[in-house]
Amino acid sequence: MDQYCILGRIGEGAHGIVFKAKHVETGEIVALKKVALRRLEDGIPNQALREIKALQEIEDNQHVVQLKAVFPHGAGFVLAFEFMLSDLAEVVRHAQRPLVPAQVKSYLQMLLKGVAFCHANNIVHRDLKPANLLISASGQLKIADFGLARVFSPDGSRLYTHQVATRWYRAPELLYGARQYDQGVDLWAVGCILGELLNGSPLFPGENDIEQLCCVLRILGTPSPQVWPEVLELPDYNKISFKEQAPVPLEEVLPDASPQALALLGRFLLYPPRRRISAAQVWNEVSRTKELWRQLCLRRWSSCKASQMTLGTQTWKQYYLCRAELEFRMECGRPEKDFICRAIAGHKGGIDELAYVSNSGCRFDGQEKSVVCTVSSDSTVRAWDVQEVASAEGMLYALTVPHLRLLSRTGVFPGSPTSLLCSPDCQWVFASTQDSDLGPKVFCTRSLLALVEEEPPVSTTLPIWRISRACWAPDETARLMVMHRNHDSGQLAITTYELEAKQSQEGVDVVVQQIASFLLPDTMTPPHLMKARGSQVILLVSGLELVLFTIQGLQLAAFQDHQKPISALWVDESRVLTASFDLSLRVYVWSKENPLPVLKSCYHLLGGSHRWASGFTHVESDSVSIVGVEARNIGTSILRSYCFNIRHGSDDCVN
Ligand code: ADP
Ligand code: MG
Repeated sequence: MDQYCILGRIGEGAHGIVFKAKHVETGEIVALKKVALRRLEDGIPNQALREIKALQEIEDNQHVVQLKAVFPHGAGFVLAFEFMLSDLAEVVRHAQRPLVPAQVKSYLQMLLKGVAFCHANNIVHRDLKPANLLISASGQLKIADFGLARVFSPDGSRLYTHQVATRWYRAPELLYGARQYDQGVDLWAVGCILGELLNGSPLFPGENDIEQLCCVLRILGTPSPQVWPEVLELPDYNKISFKEQAPVPLEEVLPDASPQALALLGRFLLYPPRRRISAAQVWNEVSRTKELWRQLCLRRWSSCKASQMTLGTQTWKQYYLCRAELEFRMECGRPEKDFICRAIAGHKGGIDELAYVSNSGCRFDGQEKSVVCTVSSDSTVRAWDVQEVASAEGMLYALTVPHLRLLSRTGVFPGSPTSLLCSPDCQWVFASTQDSDLGPKVFCTRSLLALVEEEPPVSTTLPIWRISRACWAPDETARLMVMHRNHDSGQLAITTYELEAKQSQEGVDVVVQQIASFLLPDTMTPPHLMKARGSQVILLVSGLELVLFTIQGLQLAAFQDHQKPISALWVDESRVLTASFDLSLRVYVWSKENPLPVLKSCYHLLGGSHRWASGFTHVESDSVSIVGVEARNIGTSILRSYCFNIRHGSDDCVN
């Protein structure tokens, strides 16, 4: 405490006193929150620790108030936060007239970004309200007061108290005494806050808990079990009965609000928690709006004089992304420091396919060999030593593709297989064909290698058709995820199987078990890349977008920060790497120890102007090599190998 000199008292909430203070040495102004530990539960000062833990897990988001230091003080703790000028309650109170739509939108966007971030990290705030949304001197909104926040386990098995959230912002399931709830309680509060911003005063100002429920019912109508079946099981549902009321249209409640604002409000203020729109989802929708991108452009460059490079951009979003990316390229792509680029000499003709074949990697220091295999338009398969770049000596040999030949020659797989995929432990081979009537097959690799006349290889046919992609889960060697068209609707689906080879009297049988299956949203462009992380998470790339699903179909995240279609995807335990057509490289980092894995951050490295970049040839902790093809004219290409130093980037830019 000696490091700070107290300047005055700012506020007092339910859990402690807040002071304005100045750091003696640095002169930095902070807010100090004293948290008394009145009760030690089993030695754990729960409220304070909860706040500290929650804040530390989300320390680096620009819409969550920053915790600068924690130190013990007397019988409690002091938390030092960045100092914030005001809070949203004060803004609403002092506004001359209702906030203008642009203000409401901008506060909502900041709130949603913060909430989406907390939720992505499994943190439920449980006390969102205007007084806990602080506003900085520059007008930034930041979520504060994590005193009630909890780190939730995603399986929903634990019970929690329903005595959370300040009454006016308390979700209906809590009012009915729910002990099992989730992020939905925050989304309800977001709805209440949005309503309050539009209305100028609280939407549901109940004076006690019963009256609170009346306020909600008066607008949303009495909850019907048809719409909200779970309400029947809530502890207090049968304790209180209300007379039947029909819902009041939101246009009548808030006659001055725009139809768009009301439509959005209606997607938060829903009885069934699961149906409330997620913060990440709204953020995605809101972020598509023109105004936001226009504002961002103006804020960043004040005058929007289109430079030559950005002339082709049609929308504010394209303009923003394009210009920001160009600036990034200037800053980030430092040849010979961040990456080495080499042309592989001697290739003639167009290149259709490219694959990495050698075991040793191309390292940033260029010590080891790396061999890349190309399939050209003249139907030749060639292998290239990526390091031997100066001369045509780089070409090593031509390859055959034994599996393909073997399968089609022996007739075990009628038609020619179009995709072959070996499981991580090489025990299984997945093969599919373009022939839409044939289901894909999975072979036991051993039986394929020791093919005996008249004895068919050990295999099984999966009961799905029109296969577009497949991948093996890296963690469980016999777990296979397949993207295919649904038999009836033709919609794209992803089905996960587990395979087992069982020894029986007649020989070996393959036992297939379907683990999960889900339909992809029809709004999604058919994905062209698919990879798995662990045994539960599937990453899909469709066009510019990278989307994460669980194998059950829960969308975990969507990243739309690519400017050109993604051409290659690499996933491992610690990172996700993408390369796109302009050979920009993005590295996302899995957030540590998060049971629901979420990609946390990215940085960009750029160089070259390529038509496309093929799959990653090798990824190590500090370098990644990738081969790009620069297509000159039709039928001629130059092969280039890139080696990026990603260690430097991860220290600098990952947050
Ligand atoms: P409580 O759990 O007691 O509600 P809060 O963290 O919400 O504690 O703080 C109480 C009040 O103190 C807030 O409503 C706000 O007015 C003020 N306050 C809290 N943190 C800050 C900060 N970082 N900067 C300025 N004022 C703050
Ligand atoms: Mg508070």
